[in-house]
Amino acid sequence: MQHLGITGGIGSGKTTVCKIFETLGIPVYYADERAKYLMSHDRELIAGISTLFGPEAYLEPQVLNRAHIAQHAFNDQEKLAQLNALVHPAVARDGLEWQTAQHNVPYTLKEAALLFESGSYRALDQIIVVTAPIELRIQRVMARDAAKREAVEARISKQMPEEEKVNLADFVIYNDGVRALIPQVLAIHRGLIGN
Ligand code: ATP
Repeated sequence: MQHLGITGGIGSGKTTVCKIFETLGIPVYYADERAKYLMSHDRELIAGISTLFGPEAYLEPQVLNRAHIAQHAFNDQEKLAQLNALVHPAVARDGLEWQTAQHNVPYTLKEAALLFESGSYRALDQIIVVTAPIELRIQRVMARDAAKREAVEARISKQMPEEEKVNLADFVIYNDGVRALIPQVLAIHRGLIGN
């Protein structure tokens, strides 16, 4: 069975595209969501985070102190790298377990915003990149998260430029408001199932 990755910058429409794949019966592993869960529930990861950020890292057992982590990790490149070095292998392990538990499906999808940046694309067979014009992404995220333009732009500037992701992709889905998503998803799906 093939295991594919799906990625794209903030607001490119990854999750929207994944929902379409799910309607076709394809199981999707949402790595970013799962990472948040594991940070509060994986015993080994909890121990690592507590060592890195001190006992204040948890408000109570299984409740991560996000404000504390954000304050210490996001202005300190070293700490952020150390946090990623704990979280990425934990998600990789968990994702692998999830993949092996999938049966009777033609392929699986792993959705992650930082698939290339984290290096986790290497463990996947093929990569789908969802891409949209930057202005449209900004507008969509501002509307979805009730966020300010500057905040969205700051998040975008921390990610690998979308053109680079497109260059590394096996399949590209254009979510530009002109080309419809469903036919693009169906074309990839049919190619993968050989039909
Ligand atoms: P993030 O990385 O922030 O999780 P994402 O890549 O998963 O973002 P989505 O959440 O799928 O992106 O899309 C961002 C917003 O844009 C959502 O509110 C979604 O409903 C909307 N959106 C995505 N694609 C379209 C489209 N083709 N037409 C209209 N709205 C869209």
